[in-house]
Amino acid sequence: MSLLLEIKCPKCQGVGMVYNSLWAEWYRRRDALLGTEPQPPEPQEPEEIPCIECEGTGKVLTEDGHTVAALFWRLKEEADRTREVRERFLHKARHMP
Ligand SMILES: [Zn+2]
Repeated sequence: MSLLLEIKCPKCQGVGMVYNSLWAEWYRRRDALLGTEPQPPEPQEPEEIPCIECEGTGKVLTEDGHTVAALFWRLKEEADRTREVRERFLHKARHMP
């Protein structure tokens, strides 16, 4: 059995960064100037920003990936609960007369 858990992010094509639309707008406005007008102030953000879709990783989970991730988190929660119970038990045992 083979599972495809991640695919290349379709929004950034796997790069993890996307072009900042504020800059596209700035270039559009600058190129529309007549030459005598002052340039509009540059955006105070980088031209490339991390992709929101993949949080900059360049990969997104498939449906199977989401299923496996959900299972992983459920198992982790269960393991955390088991460890807590065990620690409480050991703490009590240590303090018994
Ligand atoms: Zn992306």
